[in-house]
Amino acid sequence: MKKELQLQLSPEEAYDDRLFQHVALKKAGLSADNAQAIARQIRRSIDARGRQVRVNVTAEVFINEAPTPLLQTPKAYQNVSNKEQLIIVGAGPAGLFAALRAIELGIKPIVIERGKDVRARRRDLAAINKDHIVNPESNYCFGEGGAGTYSDGKLYTRSKKRGDIRRIMEILVAHGATEEILVDAHPHIGTNKLPKLVAELRESILQAGGEVLFETKVVDFILEGNEMKGVVTQEGEKIKGIGVILATGHSARDIFHLLKHKNILIEAKPFALGVRIEHSQNLIDRIQYHCEMDRGPYLPASSYALVQQTYFQGKQRGVFSFCMCPGGFIVPAATSPGEIVVNGMSPSRRDSKFANSGMVAAVELEDLPQYQKYGALAAMMFQAEVEQKAWLLGGKTQTAPAQRMVDFVNKKVSPSLLDTSYQPGLKSVDMYEVLPDFIAERLKQGFVAFGKKMKGYLTNEAQIIGVESRTSSPVRIPRDRESFEHPEVKRLYPCGEGAGYAGGIVSAAMDGERCAEKLIEQYARVH
Ligand code: FAD
Repeated sequence: MKKELQLQLSPEEAYDDRLFQHVALKKAGLSADNAQAIARQIRRSIDARGRQVRVNVTAEVFINEAPTPLLQTPKAYQNVSNKEQLIIVGAGPAGLFAALRAIELGIKPIVIERGKDVRARRRDLAAINKDHIVNPESNYCFGEGGAGTYSDGKLYTRSKKRGDIRRIMEILVAHGATEEILVDAHPHIGTNKLPKLVAELRESILQAGGEVLFETKVVDFILEGNEMKGVVTQEGEKIKGIGVILATGHSARDIFHLLKHKNILIEAKPFALGVRIEHSQNLIDRIQYHCEMDRGPYLPASSYALVQQTYFQGKQRGVFSFCMCPGGFIVPAATSPGEIVVNGMSPSRRDSKFANSGMVAAVELEDLPQYQKYGALAAMMFQAEVEQKAWLLGGKTQTAPAQRMVDFVNKKVSPSLLDTSYQPGLKSVDMYEVLPDFIAERLKQGFVAFGKKMKGYLTNEAQIIGVESRTSSPVRIPRDRESFEHPEVKRLYPCGEGAGYAGGIVSAAMDGERCAEKLIEQYARVH
């Protein structure tokens, strides 16, 4: 027999399994030491609105029967080595999940990735952090697993497609993620666990007879009339297939240039730009969990999500927190020498002493009149210029420009900076010099408002670090709403974050699956 319970628990009851078993069995009307009964959590979310933090848990109690498996999707892929081939450019979440879906549908995926496999990639990340050397083919954005590999591995999405989200989560669990991601309302994996998981996804593709080509950059397309037949690599190799899924991410500027050069329709896209902000995790915990000292041994490092409408020169734009990483690190996410880009990641335990988050202002195309001459690349050129300026003012290394938070609001250069998780180091700079005025003014308004929403958040014990600029793609590659095919180029399927259809690991993975389905469905209809 199975009983479902809705429980409101203390952090200790929710996170200490022995105590949880005890409480859940008693709530089910059983003796706490009933050896024939076992309880498990199937949904868990923290409610920190009141002074006492509570954890809302949906639990199942199995009495005289074994628990049913949480995971329902079996991990078994058919062999497709002799099947027709489909080209997928980019081994980020969109590309990898497109490949697995193609296999399920009986098509052989050829995944082409400019970067290295997850293990080899690590050395290049160390070189950015320690020696300030940016490898344009292998960095925090490029390489196996894409931008999502050395990240926080947050797995939440604003998408409401619950069934599709569950499918992605189950595939992740089948490849090594813990079952907790099926339970937590805000699941995350952590940067220490992601590389192994990504390697497992690759293994599934290879074992089914698919191919994954590393250190292979796509530099051209094979176009016959208005039909995409395949791609050309930097070695000059031509690879053809039944279609091309272009999942190259938001940082593949050379791909955007190539599309423009080939007269393939692309559009400038609004995005958001700003800084990363770093507080001590303890300060954020004290604000969010209303505790005097620290969060104690059971609660996870707390997070926040902030948004504020701001007004500057008669225009209203949102300022918002982005990709908050509790207990995390700020990382140098540039993809070329001569630019500074920051982002955040955290380990699965989220146990660093820092809390960081992007703090960005929405950028609309009408904010960029002087870049209109670049047409579809207007927002991308603006983004690149701000990143280059950060590099110049930071001292022409990966040392990032920074300023304490209240000093920034008061337009005062900080005489000293705080300890930071950003390994290449910081330089005290007037961030109004780095950021365009319309961004800096909006951030300032946002910070003042956030200080009122979260008492203690606006403090000189926090600092801002620039620039957070790769929030979403500054270019959209259009596609038909129904067929997902490019409106002018047949058999080209723009996919994932870089094309403007996803933001984050899970939504990119979902979009990868959809693109593979649409492409294969269309191919089957014609042939
Ligand atoms: P990408 O992951 O960007 O993958 C594109 C791939 O294409 C790359 O591997 C690239 O090397 C390859 N490529 C590019 N050009 C070419 C070419 N010409 N030839 C061959 N290959 C090419 N999202 C979350 O949901 N949660 C998080 O916690 C999170 N944290 C992040 C932390 C960091 C440091 C970063 C950088 C990003 C983070 N993100 C996070 C965002 C997330 O990683 C992206 O939304 C997601 O990876 C997008 O997936 P994608 O497959 O569309 O593109």
